[in-house]
This record gives sequence, C-alpha cells and structure tokens, in this order.
Amino acid sequence: MDRRIFGIETEYGLSYVPLDGRRLTPEDAARHLFKPVVDWGRSSNVFLGNGSRLYLDVGSHPEYATAECDQLPQLIAHDRAGEAILLDLVEQAEEDLADAGHQGKLYLFKNNVDSAGNSYGCHENYMISRRTEFKRLADMLIPFLVTRQMLTGAGHLVEVDGQTRFVFSQRADHVWEGVSSATTRSRPIINTRDEPHADAELYRRLHVIVGDSSMSETTQLLKVGATDLVLRMIESGEIYHDLRLENPIRSIRQVSHDFTGQTVVRLMGGDEPTALQIQWQLLETVQNFLDRHGAHHELVPRIMELWERTLTAVQEQDFSLIDTDIDWAIKHKLLTGYAAKHNLGMDSHRIAQLNLTYHDIDPARGLFHLLAKRGMASTVVSNEQIRHAVNHPPQTTRAAIRAKFVNAARATGRRYSTDWVHMKYEEGPGGVVLCKDPFATEDPRVDELIELMRQPV
Ligand code: ATP
Ligand code: MG
Ligand code: MG
Repeated sequence: MDRRIFGIETEYGLSYVPLDGRRLTPEDAARHLFKPVVDWGRSSNVFLGNGSRLYLDVGSHPEYATAECDQLPQLIAHDRAGEAILLDLVEQAEEDLADAGHQGKLYLFKNNVDSAGNSYGCHENYMISRRTEFKRLADMLIPFLVTRQMLTGAGHLVEVDGQTRFVFSQRADHVWEGVSSATTRSRPIINTRDEPHADAELYRRLHVIVGDSSMSETTQLLKVGATDLVLRMIESGEIYHDLRLENPIRSIRQVSHDFTGQTVVRLMGGDEPTALQIQWQLLETVQNFLDRHGAHHELVPRIMELWERTLTAVQEQDFSLIDTDIDWAIKHKLLTGYAAKHNLGMDSHRIAQLNLTYHDIDPARGLFHLLAKRGMASTVVSNEQIRHAVNHPPQTTRAAIRAKFVNAARATGRRYSTDWVHMKYEEGPGGVVLCKDPFATEDPRVDELIELMRQPV
C-alpha cells in the first residue's frame, strides 16, 4: 500500500506530588486533570477538534490517540500536539486544585513503566490490506519488532542478575506479563483484535503494542518509518529470508538487556544469528526493495540513513553517532555522564530519577525537552507545526470530516456523538453517518447532518 493510515496512541503516567502533605489517589488526580475535558464534552472520553481522541484509560492513565494521519511528519506533529494538549490540562488542574485548597504539582510522563513497575503502552496503528495474509505478515514482522528496540527503545534501567543495568527498552520486560491474574494470558507484540476502523472487506488495522513511547521526533520517525517500509515489503508479496524466531518472548528480553547487539537469537529453522545480524539483514532487504521499487515518500532516505547509522553505532559501540537522534542513546549519554561526574552507580536513586525525568512532558522540567532546547535533540517538525496540530486535523484523511463535524456540532450546542467511523446527531430527527473510508476528506452526508443540526428542532 503506497498510502497508509497511521495513528499513535500514547498512554501517559500521571503522578501528583503534594507540597502540603495532602495526598491524592491516582483516580482523584486523573479526575482533576480531566475536569475541563468533562466540562467540554460531558465525558472523559472525547474526540477533539483536531480529530484526535482523548480519554482516561484503566489505571488512571490519560491516553491521547492521534487522528488518522497519512504522512509521517503529520503523525509526529499530531503526537506532539497531544503533549501540548495534556500540558494545558495540567496547568488548569493545578489551578483547580489550588482553588480546592491543595498545594502540589502534577506530573505527566511519556514513558511506559511507573515506579510500581506497572506498564502502559504506546500503540502504533498501521492500516494494511485485507489481502495480505495475516499469519505470514506476523511471522515476518515479529523478528523485526523483537530487534527494533535497538533502534527505537527509550532506554531504561532494569535489574538483571542482581545488577542495575541500562537496557534498550522500557516495554520489552513487560510485553508478556499477564494482563489479568490468569498466568496464561499475555500481552502480545501484535494485538490481533480485529477492529479495522475502515471497510473490513478491504482493510485491517495492524495494532503493534510492543514499542516504547518516543520523546525524540527522530526516534519516532525511525520507529514508524522503518516499520512502514518493512510492511510495504511484506505486502508486496516478495519472499525474503525466513527469520521466524524460536522464542520471541525470550529473545525480546535478551535483546533489550544486551547493549552489544551480539545476543544470539535462535530461529525456528535452527540458525543462530545475532540481533544485529537480523537487523542488518532486514536493512539490506529493504534497501534492495527500494532500489527496485523506489522510495514512496521524501523522508525514506533520512529513515534509511538513520537506521544504518544506529546499527553501526551499536556494532561499533560508538553511541556518539546517534546521541542526538535516538532516545536510548540520548538518555544513555545523560545518565552515564551524570553518574561519572558525581561518582554514582547506575543503581543510585538520583540516576533512577533522571531516568524518569527524561520523560516529563513539562518543557521547563523534562530532561529530554531541556536537552532539545539546547540543540541536543534533532527534530522532524517545527514548533509551529505542532501548535497548528493542536487545533487542526490532518487535511488529507477522514479526520478532517470528523473535526468539521465536532466543531460544527459544538457550535450548535446540539447533542452529538462520534467515534472513528460514525458521526451521529442525537436530537430532533437525528441521523448517523458511517464513514468507512479513512482517506475521505469530505462527505456530503456529514454536511447535511450539520445543516440539520443548525435547524430549529
Ligand atoms: P485501545 O485503546 O483499547 O487499544 P483502540 O486500539 O481501538 O483501543 P484508540 O485509542 O481508539 O484505539 O485509537 C485508535 C487509533 O487508530 C488512532 O490513533 C487512530 O488514528 C487510528 N486509526 C483510525 N482508523 C484507522 C485505520 N483505518 N487504520 C489504522 N489506524 C487507524
Ligand atoms: Mg487506545
Ligand atoms: Mg490501542
């Protein structure tokens, strides 16, 4: 598929630190954070005027799901817009809490593990053709995803064999943790629930739930951009080397924990390449595919260059090659530099705090953002593009229709509801439109619905 729909769902960690000794439960903190949302949309699960969805998930983790995007810079801008929207809610909530006599600070972290060890996700959504056989796709994609952490992990501190170590990924150690108390249930790499949010005869929505959230825009670009390229190759029907893993569960942790990239990953066929060899092979196959089919968007060369440079950095153990581009490397430099300067071990409390503060979305506090301000993190989009995405939907997808509907409906004050595919007017004669094509940018039926809402009941 040349043109694809993408969406990123990001769950945030929320914590409230009282300055007056009065604690809040996580539920209360979340309730304060979402008060303006509930006032606005009568619910803690809303679709915003930029086409996105903002809601409170289980465990009081606020989630922002970007609108449908069909270009990577647009997707990155919309994901970053989610941070801006949540930051605005934090400011309002702190005022609201102050009015209620509380003194304290709310923190939102764009990471994947809280201090109690609970994990929350960053889900990538890729629209794929229904024609692609799903089992084949998963077989080919999983080896890529298991080793992708070397490219796009957010970096984390994990205790391995009684020692605190810096590892590639936050999520890798939690992927297979049961979501319920039943030990047989596990959190998969790809979630196979079949909800296409599109014409189910034509499309599927591939739901990748194994990735770390990205602070760095270039890491986000590589994460989604390289995955899209691998998907294109799979969708083209070409056969490439059989890389099916013997045990993805075991491998995903081993790969995360081994900074050398030399971990042996056993394949079903019995071969034992290293994690790096698998990645080199995939890179080469994609390059070969591109040589024959051409690039399908202008950022492809940048993605390929960054992919290759990151593998070289791991292979040569020269992280300076990527320490402004890749989250784990940016964070690794920060933590090891600080530890050396202050003569601290990786197990020190202060280093754990830096590991967390890296993900604080407050630009005045968050370490990633402070580094970025000093020019130590490369970018893909401008601040202007991010600000624009806060209030404007992508103009090239169905999000434009939804945003038009939401904004018009709000202006009329009438009751309405919407999800990714439906737009519904719930008063008077009422009406519902099912918009199955995520590439559609206008729909006369929705215009009629808006007209209807504007008329007196
Ligand atoms: P959960 O939160 O339980 O994982 P969910 O996966 O249905 O539920 P939402 O939080 O509602 O997720 O987010 C759906 C994501 O899918 C959004 O980012 C949205 O932009 C994206 N999306 C919408 N339509 C499509 C589509 N046709 N193909 C791919 N992605 C889509
Ligand atoms: Mg979601
Ligand atoms: Mg999801």
